[in-house]
Amino acid sequence: MIERQNRINELKECIKDHVNDLSAWLNSCELRDSIEFGCGIFATRDIQPNELLFSDKPLLLGPTGNKHEPIVCVICFEKIENDVSCFLCPGQCGLVLCGNTACANQHEIECQLLQKWKPQNPNEVSFNKLKAMLVIRSLFLDKKQRNIFNLMQKNYISEQNDIYFDDEFEHFPDDKETVAALRDASAAINTNTFKVLYRCDGSDDVSVRGFYSIMSLVNHKCSPNARHDIDKHFVGRIFAARPIKKDEQIFISYSQLLWGTNSRRMHMMVSKQFLCSCNRCLDPTENSTNLSAIRCLNKDCDGLVLPIDAINFKSHAKCNLCEKMCENQRFLQIQEMSALITKNFVNKDFTLSELDHFIEFRLCKLVPKSNQFVVESKLKAIRMFSGTTFEDQNKIQCFCEDILRIIDKLDVGECSLKGILAHRLYVIRQKLKEFPPSEFDLNGDDRKRMSISKIDDFLNDDEQLLKTAKIILSNTSTAPADIFDT
Ligand SMILES: [Zn+2]
Ligand SMILES: [Zn+2]
Ligand SMILES: [Zn+2]
Ligand SMILES: [Zn+2]
Repeated sequence: MIERQNRINELKECIKDHVNDLSAWLNSCELRDSIEFGCGIFATRDIQPNELLFSDKPLLLGPTGNKHEPIVCVICFEKIENDVSCFLCPGQCGLVLCGNTACANQHEIECQLLQKWKPQNPNEVSFNKLKAMLVIRSLFLDKKQRNIFNLMQKNYISEQNDIYFDDEFEHFPDDKETVAALRDASAAINTNTFKVLYRCDGSDDVSVRGFYSIMSLVNHKCSPNARHDIDKHFVGRIFAARPIKKDEQIFISYSQLLWGTNSRRMHMMVSKQFLCSCNRCLDPTENSTNLSAIRCLNKDCDGLVLPIDAINFKSHAKCNLCEKMCENQRFLQIQEMSALITKNFVNKDFTLSELDHFIEFRLCKLVPKSNQFVVESKLKAIRMFSGTTFEDQNKIQCFCEDILRIIDKLDVGECSLKGILAHRLYVIRQKLKEFPPSEFDLNGDDRKRMSISKIDDFLNDDEQLLKTAKIILSNTSTAPADIFDT
C-alpha cells in the first residue's frame, strides 16, 4: 500500500516533467489511486465530448519489425520504397536508413553501440533487430526520462528468455547490469507501447511503435469514455469521447472496439497480459450488439446463441429463443471457423457482389448478421471500395450506417472509428447525389421514413456527419487527405 502510494507520488512528479502541455493536464486530469487498477487518470472537472484531456510525447519510438508491414527508416520512419538492400546502414549495423544526412547523424550514437556488439549478417535486413530498436534505445534515455520509464508497469512474459534479439549479435553484452536493464526495458515496452499508424504522403499507412509513458497510465475498458489519437509528429492526445463527470476515471480501449468479447480478451491477454472484466465483457450481448453470437443449432430457430458466462472461456452457450444449449467446444469451433473463412475471404480480391454471396451463403450459415466477422467483412469492404455503380455505393452506404449503429449501441461516443465512418458516409452520399434523381429520391424517402431515433437523425444529416468527422479526425495522423477541403 505504502509502496503503491510512493509510486503514485513519484509518478505525479514525473508527469509534470514529461507531459506535453502542462496547463491542459492541470486543467482536466489527475493521477490517483485506483483500487481496481493500482493507479489511474481521473477527471478533475466535468468534461464534454471531444475536449482535449492531455497530450503526450513519445519517450521512445521504433520500427515495428513486422515482416508484413513496409520497411521504414529507423530514424524518420519514412517508407523505403525501393530495393531495401541499397538502404542498409553503411556502418554495417544491419539497420535501414533513408539516406538523409540528418537521419544518419542521429543514428550514429546507436550505430556505434550496435557495432560494438558485432551484428550477425549485417548485410541482410533483420526484422528482429528492427523490432529490438525500441528496447535498445531505452539505454540512451537521460536521467529524467529514465525516472518515469522505471516507474512504468512491467509484465515479464518469461523471466529468462525475454531478450529475443541476443542471437542477432556476436558479442551481445553479458554483464548483469546491461542484461537486467534490457530485460526490464523489454517488459516495460511490452506493456506500454502504442502502435502508431501514420500516412506517408498519399500512400498506404505505415506503422511505428511508440512508448508513451503518460498515455499508458490511462486504463482500459472495452467501451471506453475517451479516445487516443497520434498525429503525424507522433504527439499522442487523449480526448473525451463521452461526457465525463468530475472524479470519473478516464479509460481508453487497448483492443478493437468491434471485436467480440472472446477475441478482445484473448488479444489483451497475449499483448498486455491481463484479462478484462468490464461491464461490456460481463454482458453476453455486449449492449445488445450480439457481436459474439452464433446461430442456433436448431435449424428452425432464429435465436441467437451466446455464452452463459461471458468472461469464462469455458462457458457453455444457450439460445435466447428456444434455450437449446450449445457445448463450449462447439461454440468456440464455430467462432474459429467463422474467423478462418472470413480471413481467407477478405484477404483475397473480391467484388461487392461476391462479398454479399459470401456473407449470405457461407458466413451466415454459421453466425447471425450481428456477428463480429460479418461486421469485419463490411469494414474491410468500406476500406477497399469507393464504388462506381449506384448499387455498389448504396451498399457501402448501408455498411457504414450498419457499423455506425453498432458504435452507437456500444455507447463509445465520439471514437476514432466513428469519425472515419462518418466521413466515408458523407463522401458516398455526395457521390450518390450525382445519380439520376429517381434512384436517389427513392432511397432518400426510405431512409427518412425510418428516422425515428437519435442515431437515425445523425445518419440522415450530412452536415452533421461531416462536422463530426472533422472534429474527431482533426488531430490524427490517418485522417483522409481530402477531409479538410470539403
Ligand atoms: Zn530517415
Ligand atoms: Zn548503423
Ligand atoms: Zn472488457
Ligand atoms: Zn434456438
